[in-house]
Amino acid sequence: MRFDTRLVHVGQQPVPGTGDVVPPIHLSTTYDRTAQDPPRYFYVRGEQPNREALEECLAALEDARHATVYTSGQAAATTALSLVPPGRLVLASDDVYGGTHQLLAAAAERGVTVRQVDLADPAERDRALGECGPELAMVWLETPTNPLLKVADIAAVSDLAHRHGALVVVDNTLAGPVLQRPLAHGADVTLYSTTKSVAGHLDVLGGALVYQDEELHRRFLAYRTVAGNAPGGFDCYLTHRGLKTLSLRTARQVENTRAVVAALLAEPSVARVSYPGLPAHPQHAVAARQMTAPGALAAFEYRGDPAKLLDRVRLFTAAVSLGGVRSLIECPALMTHRPVPPEVRRRLGLTDRLIRISPGIEDPADLVEDLVTALRDGA
Ligand SMILES: *Cc1c(COP(=O)(O)O)cnc(C)c1O
Repeated sequence: MRFDTRLVHVGQQPVPGTGDVVPPIHLSTTYDRTAQDPPRYFYVRGEQPNREALEECLAALEDARHATVYTSGQAAATTALSLVPPGRLVLASDDVYGGTHQLLAAAAERGVTVRQVDLADPAERDRALGECGPELAMVWLETPTNPLLKVADIAAVSDLAHRHGALVVVDNTLAGPVLQRPLAHGADVTLYSTTKSVAGHLDVLGGALVYQDEELHRRFLAYRTVAGNAPGGFDCYLTHRGLKTLSLRTARQVENTRAVVAALLAEPSVARVSYPGLPAHPQHAVAARQMTAPGALAAFEYRGDPAKLLDRVRLFTAAVSLGGVRSLIECPALMTHRPVPPEVRRRLGLTDRLIRISPGIEDPADLVEDLVTALRDGA
């Protein structure tokens, strides 16, 4: 079965007896042991049919043996970081999701050493990984990064990290499994906030870890059962329903992003458009090698007033999140990355005038018209 067919079929076998082509949403929190042969289900915090169906599909998308899903992307990230004991080192991308910055700070508080560098810069990457010793437990990679869209070479990072015996976790939320499959490039764990493109309809929170290793699987399942951060049947059903159209949605979002980026480049009020699909993007070649398309997210510097721009758009909604059917626009310094200390934002180049857009699946002409009109009004 090829990728697009797996999206629709894996974990969705017709139900014997009734013939439902969509498996039912299971709401029960406990299971009658005597009605099962052999007994598989015990209590909902540990095992749940809709959750297992979603995991089977997510694993299949990366040819992985296992996936575990969580109540949120943050719960998935917390789980992955729980593997690192105090005294060991996590080397992370410098430009990461706002919530990841906070989770890394929490790990540092419990005694984990955290170092953040620009893993998209080959010289800085090689130097940082060359300086690490056996204390390196994990490399935390986000690529493309959020919101600056820097692209790191997953294969090169994985190769260097594995020389130290470290685990490589890639936050693949921005690209999604249609555009990038980190395990194929040597990563050990792929992380998703399924809240974004995987579910895609801006109506359900969730997270996932995807990996091959049996020992990791045992640990992740044990941790989830005691931490109690497994999603319920209805949320898994919604996420799985969205997942079926991921390829179609992603293709349209990439097309729409290209159209909007082309329009942005022609606007005098816009400076420094970041999109890995542009030949001028510093890691354009890496993106072309490891992604099937350059993504559905772009960022730019606006010479006008960002608050005015967010107020003037009509189809783009001024809101955080990304990857949904509806177009979103945000100013990271005012919204998603507000918790990041101002001096860190300055160092990263995350200015107060940076705007991030996440085009949805609407008609591209409407999106271009909406954004260009608002840009001119606010300039
Ligand atoms: C949203 C997001 C997260 C966190 O996911 P939640 O589902 O909101 O908990 C992590 N990483 C990236 C890149 C994200 O965009």
